[in-house]
Amino acid sequence: MRIEYGAATDVGAVRERNEDSYVARPGVYAVADGMGGHAAGDLASRIAAETVGELSGRDDVQPDDVVAAVHRANAAILQAGRDRPEAAGMGTTLTGIAVLAGGPDGPRAAVFNIGDSRVYLLADGHLEQVTVDHNEVAELVAAGRLSEEQAAVHPLRNVVTRSLGTERRAEPDVLVVALAPGQRFLACSDGLTLELDTAAIGNVLSSVESPEQAAARLVGDAVAAGGRDNVTAVVVDIRA
Ligand code: MG
Repeated sequence: MRIEYGAATDVGAVRERNEDSYVARPGVYAVADGMGGHAAGDLASRIAAETVGELSGRDDVQPDDVVAAVHRANAAILQAGRDRPEAAGMGTTLTGIAVLAGGPDGPRAAVFNIGDSRVYLLADGHLEQVTVDHNEVAELVAAGRLSEEQAAVHPLRNVVTRSLGTERRAEPDVLVVALAPGQRFLACSDGLTLELDTAAIGNVLSSVESPEQAAARLVGDAVAAGGRDNVTAVVVDIRA
């Protein structure tokens, strides 16, 4: 099994700074979105991406190691906020894929998430969101109190309920998935999903062969569609 990947990021058409960060290194592919309204969101997202990126190059990673890396990232962001008063209160999302040590049934990865950035999986022509957003609106949808259509325009849709840097302990969701040739994963910040619906994302992922070009095309399309937020995409292909 081979893994090919590509990544792209853009400040967008409105924001002055790009507070998104990503890591795309062998075995670790993740996106972090430093939070708007917080000081130094770009520092928080960079610390998160770098810290989880330290799992790259290992062949013995277990799900607990991914959780521990997220905890280390949270601690490092909190520490950086203590060291620099102007950065206190910064926060970030973090989501992505970490390749795990092979299990008895073959290659595996952990999909991890905290916040409202997302991981999608395209397999057999079908695109599905693997992660669950940690925000007020997604929780209302999950409880059956809002429709997807209502959620898309709801005033609380940007209120993140879990993130790094904002609490002493930050618990990610971790889902172990079996890896198989033909899968294509996408990790992205909400600047992408704000501008492109699932069908548009699926069209690009289904039609652009190279992961590097697919990531660039997604980001370019999101900026062209309005670019109201920073946009980041990491595309990861599992090949035979
Ligand atoms: Mg964002």
